[in-house]
Amino acid sequence: MSIFEPIDTHIDVWNKLKKAITAGRMAHAYIFQGAEGSGRESVARAFAATVNCLNPDHDGTACGQCVSCRKIHHNNHPNIYYIEPDGASIKLHQFKELKRELSLRQVENGCQVIIIRQAEKMTGEAANSILKILEEPPAQTVFILIVKNISAIKTTILSRCQKVSFQTASLEDTYKLLIEETGYSMSEVKLAMQIGGEGVERARQLLEGKLFELRGKVLDKVKRVDSMHQAELMTVAEEWSGEFAWEIIQVLILWYRDLLVWREAGTDNLIINMDRMEQIKQDTTPDGDMRGIIDIILEAQWALSVNANKKLTMQDMLLKWSKVYR
Ligand SMILES: [Zn+2]
Repeated sequence: MSIFEPIDTHIDVWNKLKKAITAGRMAHAYIFQGAEGSGRESVARAFAATVNCLNPDHDGTACGQCVSCRKIHHNNHPNIYYIEPDGASIKLHQFKELKRELSLRQVENGCQVIIIRQAEKMTGEAANSILKILEEPPAQTVFILIVKNISAIKTTILSRCQKVSFQTASLEDTYKLLIEETGYSMSEVKLAMQIGGEGVERARQLLEGKLFELRGKVLDKVKRVDSMHQAELMTVAEEWSGEFAWEIIQVLILWYRDLLVWREAGTDNLIINMDRMEQIKQDTTPDGDMRGIIDIILEAQWALSVNANKKLTMQDMLLKWSKVYR
């Protein structure tokens, strides 16, 4: 299987695009419309790989191994351009620069692919500029506008593009996409999805940010809650009430859930924190205490979900928690 093989959810869309490519009936511009995280960009990359592959399979699929495919996989192919919001919007100067670059370059092999992320964020001037480009499209160049909401795109631009709609990916496919995009393992991706509340974008941010470091720090503190003095509990509450307060509560819930699952089922195939299996097996929190702790954490989760003050919620949780053991 090629590294550019799209996920199952997009097979139909992809087959149509591939047919157009192999038949030489490509449009000059496409609009890929779909939800955040639906995999629009991986299809755009598969497209770019297919039109540039030096050694495609008999059905036109990119080989995934030639110099061109490898460059696309590593995001350093000279034929592929990305344009994305510079701050809050995509600005005129970005298209001016693109136009200059395109005019300076001679495409020797394949086809240039310009991928515009969050195209709905083009300013009016930028939109006019791309419209001019699309009215006289440069040779061997394909534009792919990636959008969530097509109604935010001017009809004059829409009329120049072929529209491709993407369905929201299934959960299994979402895992695959995240593994492909972030390089993390299945168990890590599942953990991030659970902690991020199933939102793909949040999961991606967590994986690209410091999820595992955050979890490590939280679990280190968990080990010592029973021996902390009030001052230390207050310091921890302060630390936990920042930007990631919600995620910290999820880390705690999933952790205690895993401890319970391990005790009750004695099998690791339902464990979410798979990489911490040893610590899970060694935990000696008495059953009764564990129930009490879980109730306290769930109470804090509820408080945060109704926008209670984060610091007060964390203080309250930690004070109650520390008393469970006494
Ligand atoms: Zn190739």
